[in-house]
Order: sequence, then C-alpha cells, then structure tokens
Amino acid sequence: MHITPNVDPQEISKFSEGADRWWDTDSDFRPLHDINPARLAWINNATKLRGKRVLDVGCGGGLLSEGMAKLGGIVSAIDMSAEALAVARAHALTNTCEIDYQLCAAEDFALRHPAKFDVLTCLEMLEHVPNPASVVQACATLVKPGGHVFFSTINRNPKAYLMAVVGAEYVLRLLPRGTHDYAKFIRPAELASFCRDAGLIVDEIIGMRYEPFSRHAELTVDTSVNYLLRAQRV
Ligand code: SAH
Repeated sequence: MHITPNVDPQEISKFSEGADRWWDTDSDFRPLHDINPARLAWINNATKLRGKRVLDVGCGGGLLSEGMAKLGGIVSAIDMSAEALAVARAHALTNTCEIDYQLCAAEDFALRHPAKFDVLTCLEMLEHVPNPASVVQACATLVKPGGHVFFSTINRNPKAYLMAVVGAEYVLRLLPRGTHDYAKFIRPAELASFCRDAGLIVDEIIGMRYEPFSRHAELTVDTSVNYLLRAQRV
C-alpha cells in the first residue's frame, strides 16, 4: 500500500538546489554543522546509541546520521530529496560510514517498517512539511514500544520570527531567503500534543541557543526560538 505523501515539492527543491553544499561548513548549512555536536551529545546521553537501530527522518546530507553512526548506531535514514541523499551516500562512502539511505516519506516508511527502530530522530524537518502531526504519528509507529523519539523545530512567536526569519535570512544572511515559512513553525505545546495523540510520552523539551558569530551552540531552558523534544513510545 502507498499513501499520498505528506510532502511539499517546493520545500524539497530548496534542499535539492543547494545539495552540493551540505558538507561545506561555511555554506547555508553552517548552522546545522554548528549545532550538530550539541544535539548529538543530548541524544546519545538520553539513549546510548551504540548497537541501537536508529532511523533519521528528513536526514538531508546526513550530518546527524553520520554522527550517530560514528557513535555506534546502526543507522537508516530517509529524505525526499534525491539530491541530498546522493550527497549523503557519497559522503558516507568516503568517510567509511555504513548508513542505509532511502528516498521515502515517513508515512510510507512506517507502513513498511512498523516498530522496527529503537531510536528515531527527526530534526529541523517538521517545519517543512504540510502536516507535521502526520509525520509525528509515522515516527511513533516506526519505533518499538519503549523506543526513544527526538524532534527539533522552531517555535512560533514574534521573537522566533525575528531571530529565525528576519535575523537569519535577511540581516545575517546565514540562510537563503525563504528557507523558513513562519506559518509552519510549531509551538512546543502543539508538538507535545501531536506526540500524545500518537501514543508518545514527552520526557523533555529543551531550547537550543545558537550564537552565529562565535558559532557556539548550547542547550538552554529557553525554548522561545529553536527547541528539541524527547519522547518515548508507550
Ligand atoms: N535533519 C537534518 C536536515 C534538516 S533540513 C539535520 O537536522 O541536519 C530538512 C530536510 O527535510 C531536508 O533534507 C528536506 O529534503 C527534508 N524534508 C522536507 N520535507 C520532507 C518530507 N515530507 N519527507 C522527507 N524529508 C523531507
């Protein structure tokens, strides 16, 4: 069975156009490179990745997927950008990283692999899909009972608009204009409610503070702009 994918082709083309820059730490993907160590440490701290079956949903060029494989995770990863996946596969080869990359939407993957993974990550992706609740449901289906699920996205309020859209895209020009659509940002309470509806118990919601000049990123109690959520399947 194949269900209509919950995918916005315009969003996918944004990530396909710049695909050759995924591993360039000074490109539009620089913020993802800069926040990667902090988010990876947070995930590995909550669920030791070594030996675990991990799925990275919306993996892009594989920054997080490779980090998790290096920590001993048995990593599969999906995305709907063929170009990003090609870059991810090539990079994993040259970096002797074994990752199973597949072009697939989360909902379709969930039909084929229910309850297959110990750990699931879906970072900086929900704010690019038409129906984030449906992705959250698919992610919950993909993990085993007791499995850990990690999301990250951007909060929706005036400060988040100023920092993540005006600041990052127009003032600092860290990201191309149009990277983020404010209307698709998700409040922590909304994400928590999607999780509960999908049978996930929310364990933690934590902010990510990123300083673009020093390139320093750290976790913080302030969830007003970028934040991460950790949950467990019942
Ligand atoms: N998770 C990665 C990449 C985030 S960028 C990281 O944090 O480093 C967002 C990614 O989501 C892009 O690679 C884009 O192609 C992917 N994406 C957007 N909509 C998607 C969808 N509906 N299904 C799968 N991937 C999607």
